[in-house]
Amino acid sequence: MSVVTRFAPSPTGFLHIGGARTALFNWLFARHHGGKYLLRIEDTDKKRSTDEAIDAILDGLNWLGLGADDKPIFQSQNANRHAEVAKQLLAEGKAYNCYCSPEELAEMRENAKEEGRPVGYDGTWRDRTPSEAPEGVAPVVRIKMPRDGETTITDAVQGSVTIKNEQLDDFVLLRADGTPTYMLSVVVDDHDMGVTHIIRGDDHLTNAFRQYQLYNAMGWDVPTFGHIPLIHGPDGAKLSKRHGALGVEAYRDEMGYLPEALNNYLLRLGWSHGDEEIIPQDKAIEWFDLDAVGKGASRFDFAKLENLNGHYIREASEKRLLELILPHLGEISDEAKDWMLNGMEGLKSRAKNILELADSAKFYAARPTFPLENQKAAKLIKEDTPALMSEVSDLLDSLENWTVESLEEALKAFSETKELGLGKVMQPIRAILTGSNSSPSMFEVMYVFGKKETIERLRCL
Ligand code: GLU
Repeated sequence: MSVVTRFAPSPTGFLHIGGARTALFNWLFARHHGGKYLLRIEDTDKKRSTDEAIDAILDGLNWLGLGADDKPIFQSQNANRHAEVAKQLLAEGKAYNCYCSPEELAEMRENAKEEGRPVGYDGTWRDRTPSEAPEGVAPVVRIKMPRDGETTITDAVQGSVTIKNEQLDDFVLLRADGTPTYMLSVVVDDHDMGVTHIIRGDDHLTNAFRQYQLYNAMGWDVPTFGHIPLIHGPDGAKLSKRHGALGVEAYRDEMGYLPEALNNYLLRLGWSHGDEEIIPQDKAIEWFDLDAVGKGASRFDFAKLENLNGHYIREASEKRLLELILPHLGEISDEAKDWMLNGMEGLKSRAKNILELADSAKFYAARPTFPLENQKAAKLIKEDTPALMSEVSDLLDSLENWTVESLEEALKAFSETKELGLGKVMQPIRAILTGSNSSPSMFEVMYVFGKKETIERLRCL
């Protein structure tokens, strides 16, 4: 049997971090087993579904490299097929029309609550004949659930989970207006799409028992379920915006994370392979399976994500990083772009995210203005600095070789002759060339700028 997985978001909001992890697990599981990974947009709630949300989900998935193997399926387009299945169950006596009014249903719920029963609907219309139907009332269609015994799901993550059938009520398949319910649509679509493994958040575990019975009623194979624990905040509480329950685009645009860092982080959130923390995609595909998904909720940890991001920034090519920082930098000259590209190796070793990287590259694009805004850097410029820089400029001007090594050699010799510590020479150079008190090695920066720009900046003071 070839594996088919799916990610089935409801487009009522952005692609949040929990959804991205669900998509990733489905994607990896399919890749690991040489199967297919599909996307189904569950847009049946027309009031709450929006085109913007659909775009945000598709955009987020593409950014993470988790686009589906086939065109996305839009659930609302299958409504007729869903209704057909309900009608088939009705014809086979496995479902029935229910004519209860909202008042009657409210009363049933009230009674159940008083008697401590979990089931809301009491089966009033289960065995009544159509001739008893009240006139002018459009019925809903309910499935006949088994009343005795138990339903057991062998969940690939949660293990064997059993529920007493008396806890499952005859839920609605078709509403009075003929539209299918979520429970029906999900099962029919998963069957029609040939889904073999349903990997999703464990908030859907209780639905799985009902869905299991619906598969049985239709005589369909039940897919394997894998209900993955939810993501919690660092304090153990349900993930909220404050904790990072944001759309993935916020991780990209507002926090500057690389998609491979977010994927690696999300993979480790609830799944492990020994002590491995840095898991590139090929290893993730090789190692991922559901048996190593933990049963407990995982806690979101920004520090870990940040560390991984730093790692992947260091791994990323200079050219790609330049492309990523440019949108944050406004209009800049081609010359400055070249400097940034050539200086990227030094910059990227220090940055934890793309915003920091962009910020640290700014000095290549614009000469600092004096007095410096950065107070720590301003303090590095002393009264005798202009005279010292004039000497340094003359020295640099006389250099025949402009390499990192020759710059280092010349400036070391200079500071020795002047009987100054090397720092006393280099720190003002750093402040003047970059406007900052921290930057990559100044020998590298000077090398990247070349003689002309270096000397012009030093003489700017
Ligand atoms: N559309 C559901 C959700 O967004 C998921 C349904 C499923 O995976 O079965 O939570």
